[in-house]
Amino acid sequence: RVKDEGKNHFQFFTSEMNDLVSRKSKIAMSIRKGLELGEFTVRYQPQFDIESEKIIGVEALVRWHHTKWGPISPAEFIPIAEENGMILHIGEFVLRTACQQNKDWQDAGLPPFRVAVNISAKQFSNSNIAAVVTSALADAGLSPEFLELELTESIIQGARSAISKMWELKAMGIHLSIDDFGTGYSSLSYLKLFPVDTLKIDQHFTRNIHNDPKDAALVDTIIQMAHNLELNVIAEGVETSEQLAFLKKKKCNQAQGYYFQKPLLPDQIEKLYLKA
Ligand code: C2E
Ligand code: MG
Ligand code: MG
Ligand code: MG
Repeated sequence: RVKDEGKNHFQFFTSEMNDLVSRKSKIAMSIRKGLELGEFTVRYQPQFDIESEKIIGVEALVRWHHTKWGPISPAEFIPIAEENGMILHIGEFVLRTACQQNKDWQDAGLPPFRVAVNISAKQFSNSNIAAVVTSALADAGLSPEFLELELTESIIQGARSAISKMWELKAMGIHLSIDDFGTGYSSLSYLKLFPVDTLKIDQHFTRNIHNDPKDAALVDTIIQMAHNLELNVIAEGVETSEQLAFLKKKKCNQAQGYYFQKPLLPDQIEKLYLKA
């Protein structure tokens, strides 16, 4: 009897895994078509200066609404796109859309701010990122100072060529930040070698400020380290006024999260500014 149950469990697992495998490969094969059909769009999440509570920038976040399957999370399709190389196409789409959108906001009379674009490790290492960025900026007519690239620690671990690529981007006048700071396993000494402007405290640390004293200590330490290195620091995933109060007390520069705004449509960003 026990044996049979074990067998059933095994079969159940096997078919569930097959479903996962086929969903993954269906997603992998649908990205190119989705881009062609315009199923991909970009939302923008405002970033706030904690002291003045003014919007200082927005982060561009890709969205995919498949005509048959509905919305698919970037947390699901970005890793798949990294595996099959489609991240280069998604990444360039988001970069071009975000640059053009930011120029449109400026032309509409909004005070100029930066738009931050996530760059995956593969996109950074497998493309001439400086050339792609130069072309996107030129086509949009956007000045480089209004673009920020969010890189992850995995990029830094990757290759020596990462250093020269980052200096190339920095020399163009582009702002560089480290996303999900504190979740990678790289040595802190890279902060000395790479021309980074901003550390983005990962949302898992922010979330636990009031549940776990060790996370609170880590957030505090990252903020102080950023200040000591003369880097800007922003906390991601701020959801409560208590978290914001803690960050303010610790003199964190900026914050981003559902407590302020979710990722928004372009005209919602415009309305926020007109209201302010
Ligand atoms: P990320 O770059 O760290 O972006 C932050 C994620 O947290 C976003 O999820 C955002 O919607 C979500 N978020 C913002 N505020 C809060 C909050 O207060 N609470 C919670 N629980 N979540 C919050 P999203 O848009 O689903 O993106 C997930 C990840 O997918 C991103 O993490 C990023 O790594 C990746 N991603 C998204 N768009 C792009 C893109 O255009 N290119 C690349 N390479 N990766 C992207
Ligand atoms: Mg990001
Ligand atoms: Mg992040
Ligand atoms: Mg991330």
